[in-house]
Amino acid sequence: MSLGYAQKLSFIEDVGQVGMAEFFDPCHVLQCKIEELAKMIQKSKHLVVFTGAGISTSCGIPDFRGPKGIWTLQREGKDLPKASLPFHRAMPSMTHMALVELERAGILKFVISQNVDGLHLRSGIPREKLSELHGDSFMEMCPSCGAEYLRDFEVETIGLKETSRRCSVQKCGAKLKDSVLDWEDALPPKEIDPAEKHCKMADLVLCLGTSLQITPACNLPLKCLRGGGKIVIVNLQKTPKDKKADVVIHGLVDKVVAGVMESLNMKIPPYVRIDLFQIILTQALSGGLMALTHMCFICVIDQRIQRERMERLLTRRLCY
Ligand SMILES: [Zn+2]
Repeated sequence: MSLGYAQKLSFIEDVGQVGMAEFFDPCHVLQCKIEELAKMIQKSKHLVVFTGAGISTSCGIPDFRGPKGIWTLQREGKDLPKASLPFHRAMPSMTHMALVELERAGILKFVISQNVDGLHLRSGIPREKLSELHGDSFMEMCPSCGAEYLRDFEVETIGLKETSRRCSVQKCGAKLKDSVLDWEDALPPKEIDPAEKHCKMADLVLCLGTSLQITPACNLPLKCLRGGGKIVIVNLQKTPKDKKADVVIHGLVDKVVAGVMESLNMKIPPYVRIDLFQIILTQALSGGLMALTHMCFICVIDQRIQRERMERLLTRRLCY
């Protein structure tokens, strides 16, 4: 998780359990569980994935509660862990890209993330199939018309504060706000409502890299149980929800997901960064009227992926 984000959060005494021991299933046990999970995914009609900081540690972003996590070291009075690269340059992991492939194949119906690193959107998960429960460090929102702006820089504030920029939707122009929650902020209905709906519909909720401690988010996966859904947890540490899960896998998320994709005979696509720059040209017209012309320039890296992702971006009115 972004260190900048952690430092901007208000200080609270109780951040849940930290420094928890990590467990690794023996190789043969891990392989059996991977194959079992692959079969469950293959049989599922409505797969929902619920993610936490553990899916981004391989992207160079430290987690919160692992042995070298941000809260763990902070509570021990030690220096905070160093991110291995600037936050805005972190790239989606193998797991992020596997989820993209599962979504494209029609298997994965919805992703719920507690992460604010924006890597699911960056990887190509469609916005309408994603709830970012705690916000997105790269997203600004218009409180007036609801437009969302995905930036290529980390928004300066957290806690739903006004930023220095305004909405560029015609006739709106309201002041934009950051989208990242502070501790006391309630989960926004726009994110929690679809997340709840999909958990209730799910026959399988796969929890990846989360210690399932932050309420109310951690209770979402349990909503599948009433309708007969199943929960699988992949995490190195034990979680308070383990006893509710059909399968608990103690292994590195990337390793487990790679194994599952192999069992499903599916390829994990590489991440290709697409930069979409929006340039606003302003022309003064007679009578003091201003006309705005929006032009988009795209760095073409892969024509097929670029076209598909551009269509998604434009239909979402997101601005990279
Ligand atoms: Zn607006």
